[in-house]
Amino acid sequence: MSTIQETLSTNPDLPGTFLFNSIVFGPVISRRLGSSLGINLLPANKKVCSFNCIYCECGSTPASLDNSLLPTKNEVISEIENTLINQQKQNKPIDTITFAGNGEPTLHPEFPHIIESVIKLRNKYYPNSRIAVLSNASRIHKPAVLNALSLIDDPVLKIDSGIEATLKLIDCPVESFNLENALKIMEKMNGDFILQTMFIKGEVNNTHFDNTTEEEIVAWLKIVERIKPRLVQIYSLSRIPASSNVEKIELSVLNSISERVQKLNIHTLVTP
Ligand code: SF4
Repeated sequence: MSTIQETLSTNPDLPGTFLFNSIVFGPVISRRLGSSLGINLLPANKKVCSFNCIYCECGSTPASLDNSLLPTKNEVISEIENTLINQQKQNKPIDTITFAGNGEPTLHPEFPHIIESVIKLRNKYYPNSRIAVLSNASRIHKPAVLNALSLIDDPVLKIDSGIEATLKLIDCPVESFNLENALKIMEKMNGDFILQTMFIKGEVNNTHFDNTTEEEIVAWLKIVERIKPRLVQIYSLSRIPASSNVEKIELSVLNSISERVQKLNIHTLVTP
């Protein structure tokens, strides 16, 4: 079984960035997800995303998506099944099967079918493990994507600011993204999702930004209160991306944001 060190590779075009070179990676130990088996639905060693976040560890988003480079549904399912069988034989725990990898997993055209198949595999081999998808929420307006997310245990949706201009500065959507539309859909999810927010400050295109100012936090808390996720994950950079002029937010600031969320009776998890 490969380890994360074996499956992560440095992007030769952008030193300091990391890409996965396989469909399945790990399991790795994560504070948020426990023993997590990662699934990368994007091409090996190539980032594909609907955002181009300034803090992305995968480097810059290429201009176009070449569908021929994506793994097929059959390739994905067979690799996951083989891994689950191997892990089971070795009595290794898997707490979470996590869709993450080299970009936005919901961009894979067969994402809904892959989710249905992985639920069956999970039920067969690791019935107690959870299925998580880490998504930037850019595709939740697609009914099939939203439905697939409703079938899993932990849909983790990212909103990095309650102010659309700041969100666009930080996340740089490469497709159209409307914050209000995303929030309206999240409101209808009845709290059955996890909200994830990256807090950072820095400069992009000569524009200073900081999504921890009082104005930002007030706007962000308003949306948290409105969409009522069952959990809010708050974090900052673990590594400074090579390409960006961004700064990590101190743990004490993250903790004080967390306290304000808890006053709304919403659980939070701060990842240092
Ligand atoms: S959404 Fe995730 S993968 Fe896409 S650019 Fe942002 S951090 Fe990178």
